[in-house]
Amino acid sequence: MSKSKITAIVGANWGDEGKGKITDIKAGQADVVVRFQGGGNAGHTILNEYGKFALHQMPSGMFYENVVNIIGNGCALNLEYLEKEIAKVLEIVPDLKFQLMLDQRVPLLLPHHILLDELEEERRGDRQFGSTKSGIAPFYAEKYFKEAIQLNEIFDDAHFKTRLEHLYEKVNLTLVGVYKAEPVKYMDIYERIVKFRPFVEKHMGDATAFLRDAREQGKNILLEGQLGALRDVGMGIYPYVTSSHTLAGFASVGAGIPPYAITNILAVTKAYSSCVGAGPFVVELFGDEANELRLRGGHAGEFGALTGRPRRVGYFDAVATRYGVQCQGATEVAMTNIDTLSYLDEIPVCVAYEINGKQTTDFPAPSLLDFAKPVYEILPGFKQDIRGIRKFADLPENAKSYVKFIEKQIGVPITWLSNGPKREELVEF
Ligand code: GDP
Ligand code: MG
Repeated sequence: MSKSKITAIVGANWGDEGKGKITDIKAGQADVVVRFQGGGNAGHTILNEYGKFALHQMPSGMFYENVVNIIGNGCALNLEYLEKEIAKVLEIVPDLKFQLMLDQRVPLLLPHHILLDELEEERRGDRQFGSTKSGIAPFYAEKYFKEAIQLNEIFDDAHFKTRLEHLYEKVNLTLVGVYKAEPVKYMDIYERIVKFRPFVEKHMGDATAFLRDAREQGKNILLEGQLGALRDVGMGIYPYVTSSHTLAGFASVGAGIPPYAITNILAVTKAYSSCVGAGPFVVELFGDEANELRLRGGHAGEFGALTGRPRRVGYFDAVATRYGVQCQGATEVAMTNIDTLSYLDEIPVCVAYEINGKQTTDFPAPSLLDFAKPVYEILPGFKQDIRGIRKFADLPENAKSYVKFIEKQIGVPITWLSNGPKREELVEF
């Protein structure tokens, strides 16, 4: 068997690290890009020759004709959103040719998941999780209750109707009994989904068999993660996490490949911290200092790619990132957004947390995070627009030492450095 290169591209932090940009670049040399978890709650920003796009469910290999894009079994598939997402891209690039495979085992995210997500956030009032209200938590709860409907089940009419009837029997008990909401008629959902049969027929496949063959043929495969390590349902800042596993370890399950087949794990981190939604965020800045970083960060500021919500921001958190990189099992790290920091005279980096008078460099259990205070080391700023620079050696000394300092802190080589949102804005080592 020729050696297949299989790289997982995953987040080291709270999400929005710039995975979309890195995946889009790497997809240029890839044969297959697989999304292995999450759903329409993601937002991967891609700036390429066609314009600016926020991909939600579509894998970031969409803009390369030769790449097979797979939505794996670990994802939450919302067919209605996916159709809209594709239509939006085709509106801008009408002749775009792309290849898409929907794994036959991917479960369907249905309208009641979104409804339940909204109702539950409403019920929680000021204790909201800050959900994107894409239905993700109710979806995964249903999946693990073994009640979700997989994509392969929509074709046999009798089977599909019975499954829906049984499912909505219970869903309506919750909607009416718990939330005092209107019940859902299962035949309405049936009508909404059967419309997609021709689309699904065209795109549904057996991802496990496809990936097995691709490996045998020595193909280059990317596994694209959503959110980041600190949002993993097990190892993250529970309960302020997503309801799926965001770790490379899960990529094997959620895509359908053996764990030992993954050859590289590329964790993406930002040169500073950003976070969407509720939960502890030790390095969070407020006021003018936060506003300045937020407005200068990312492409046109740090605002959610899906919701447009302002992202919470802070300086680089080495404690959280080291933990995130370790949870991912990263073999290499990509640092994005270094250009954003060029306005700072001095760049603070959080190197430890102080909790109840004691310093620690190990990321603590979630319940202790509320008591953690950041301990900063101050590095000199580089005070220079570095966007046009393409070689590490050409960077100002203070930018180089910033990267080297962080590399030492997190203990994994930084092999990619991104200094602008565009595809070509990349620094070679
Ligand atoms: P993802 O969810 O990990 O794909 O990240 P998002 O796309 O949600 O957020 C990353 C933000 O940073 C987006 O606004 C990107 O356009 C932007 N971005 C990515 N890399 C860079 C970079 O090197 N510099 C700047 N200024 N922006 C970047
Ligand atoms: Mg994002």
